[in-house]
Amino acid sequence: MDSNNPQNHQNCPVCGVSIAEDGQVNFSHGSSGTRARLYARVCQYTQKPGCINQESQLRGELNPEDGFESGENLPIPFLSTPGATN
Ligand SMILES: [Zn+2]
Repeated sequence: MDSNNPQNHQNCPVCGVSIAEDGQVNFSHGSSGTRARLYARVCQYTQKPGCINQESQLRGELNPEDGFESGENLPIPFLSTPGATN
């Protein structure tokens, strides 16, 4: 199913990045990062089939500097909790 990965890189066709065998993510521009950073910045918003970085066990720890805006809570509709009141 997958295309050839001559350098043991996985390409995420959804996010347009490549992920090395050791988990280093190469963004299309800017410095490389981690799976966690990739997820924080891209994959969590895409939510499309075909994204290879949707498994939390593969992402590892997520640091605030990986992309979440500090001091700002973004609405996440699909995580609404029934019965909870704000
Ligand atoms: Zn992705």
